[in-house]
Amino acid sequence: MEPNLDQLFDICPEIICILKPNYTIHRVNLAFTQLFGWDFSRIQGRSFLDFIHAEWVQPTQEVLQNTTNQTIPAFETLHCKADGNQTYLTWSFSFEPNSQSIFGIARESEALKRFQEGILQENFRLTELAYTDSLTELMNRRGFLTQLQQYQSFAIRTRRPLSLLLLDVDYFKIFNDSYGHSAGDQALVIIAGLLKTNLRRSDLAGRYGGEEFVVCLPDSDQQGALTVAESLRQAVDHYGWPIQEITISIGAATAIADDGSTCKTAKELIDEADRALYHSKQAGRNCSTHHAHLQKTNRQR
Ligand code: GH3
Ligand code: MG
Ligand code: MG
Repeated sequence: MEPNLDQLFDICPEIICILKPNYTIHRVNLAFTQLFGWDFSRIQGRSFLDFIHAEWVQPTQEVLQNTTNQTIPAFETLHCKADGNQTYLTWSFSFEPNSQSIFGIARESEALKRFQEGILQENFRLTELAYTDSLTELMNRRGFLTQLQQYQSFAIRTRRPLSLLLLDVDYFKIFNDSYGHSAGDQALVIIAGLLKTNLRRSDLAGRYGGEEFVVCLPDSDQQGALTVAESLRQAVDHYGWPIQEITISIGAATAIADDGSTCKTAKELIDEADRALYHSKQAGRNCSTHHAHLQKTNRQR
């Protein structure tokens, strides 16, 4: 009896994928899903090129085209992972004519690994410092906007929704004036902690400046964004504040409309969320508004 090779496929530590015409992903192994951080259900049927960094799509496509004539022994390309990080993989590709499939097997590039782990480490630490808000340890505005661009281009290429929330502490000037700047700082740290604990790992939270926070929600549509906004708003509202109750107002925006047609730039997304936030403030604060229905206000209290 022929052995079933499925098991071998999944225990293989190298990253394996099988592509059909148009580079559609037909099958990947566990190492692939683990490296990229997506479930297979969200990978299957997607183009392999969706997982390539924008600047590497064209050379990768050219190499894939050539697989019909020759086996490609080692091709290095840059990939984007679900968490927004990037990694170089060195691929070997081979065309299998019976099933018209391309077989691909890869490992993380050794040279780059060393580069990343060694020389870049210090650089990375400094970059991280430059991108981190020292009070809350969230990303600062610069760090957030840099990451947002990567989330954005991934969402556009994969035609997945992407939402953004702007959160602003209500009447925070009065709080500071009444209880002092250091009590205000402590409150900001607590709010940052509430964001961290109430968001998914793949979400991105940052301090946008002053008493404003910003959150990017990959794969969240309008309804999903409002649900998260409300859960964050309630987490702050229901926190056992020791001196005085603190609340936040939230504005939400979504980059891809429900029909999958509209793509927005990061700036448009932020502007829309800002307008929605303004509406939440006008509506009495401690509430969430989505830009798509500025007439409606969510206040589930
Ligand atoms: P609104 O509900 O309209 O947002 O009112 P607000 O008072 O929160 O808004 P305003 O923009 O008038 O004031 C923001 C205040 O946030 C001013 C400042 O005292 C406070 N703030 C900004 N950054 C910090 C910070 O890093 N630490 C502390 N403690 N306070 C800050
Ligand atoms: Mg503000
Ligand atoms: Mg405020």
